[in-house]
Amino acid sequence: MPTHHLLGAHTIDNGGIDMAARRAAAAGMQALQIFTTIPKFYGDRASIRPDRVKRFREALAGTGISPQHVMAHAAYVLNTATHEEEKSIRAAAGLAKELERSTALGIGQICFHPGAARDGNRDAAAARVAAAITGALEKIPGETRVLIENTAGAGLTMGRTPDEIAAMLAGVPRKLRGRTGYGLDTCHLFAAGHPIHESKAALTRVLDAFEAAIGEPPSFFHLNDSKFPFGSNRDQHALIGEGLIGAEAFRWLLADPRSRSVPLILETPQENFEIADGDPSPDPWDVRMLALLRSMQ
Ligand SMILES: [Zn+2]
Ligand SMILES: [Zn+2]
Repeated sequence: MPTHHLLGAHTIDNGGIDMAARRAAAAGMQALQIFTTIPKFYGDRASIRPDRVKRFREALAGTGISPQHVMAHAAYVLNTATHEEEKSIRAAAGLAKELERSTALGIGQICFHPGAARDGNRDAAAARVAAAITGALEKIPGETRVLIENTAGAGLTMGRTPDEIAAMLAGVPRKLRGRTGYGLDTCHLFAAGHPIHESKAALTRVLDAFEAAIGEPPSFFHLNDSKFPFGSNRDQHALIGEGLIGAEAFRWLLADPRSRSVPLILETPQENFEIADGDPSPDPWDVRMLALLRSMQ
């Protein structure tokens, strides 16, 4: 089916990330998101074994999903913004390891949540995030990009506004800037108080504000509806059309040229977490979401 949208999901990886790729392909996806390590640990010493790389690359080659359209989501605990020195060092090392593993897999990008500035000094926090990105890019040469994800804005987390993402990326040296960028999660936008649900014009203004402040369009979108209300700063994803954003906003987003040619990744609830390791069949709820999004194109 010809399409200019690269629809995908963070598919279930029981049996390995090669099985996640097979399940994405079986659902008819053109993009994919994976974890390269257990996301609740730093993973700052975890390399990826060559046999795992080989299995994944072979599986992906058989799917027709371009490695360029695969993204790794970094561990949630990597707080590169923190002022606490030990955590900051481990987070920066963890981000570099994320990039090392993803570069070995040959995939297009990683995304990460920048973390929180618990001392309240947001300028210093932005500089630390920039230093972590810079350090990772300097340490691990290659093509894989490091992308900041916008956040729902709980507590003191960084990355809820266009200016904050711009400040973080502005600290990356110009020669490395092409290997970084950012992406937008619809649930996080809504939770952080960006009115993407109000009208197509309102959604366009939100995207315009990010593009103007940062100087480039987003490099990916996470397509998630929201369980919690507008501006709540709470992050819990819902199936599209079954949350408080509503399906219409996703139709508007798919009509915006900025949603073309970049990975559009569902992180919506899934049904079959107990799927057998060797079973490549797609998750029924992922399939339902794909059909809904296709009907909006
Ligand atoms: Zn995320
Ligand atoms: Zn989220």
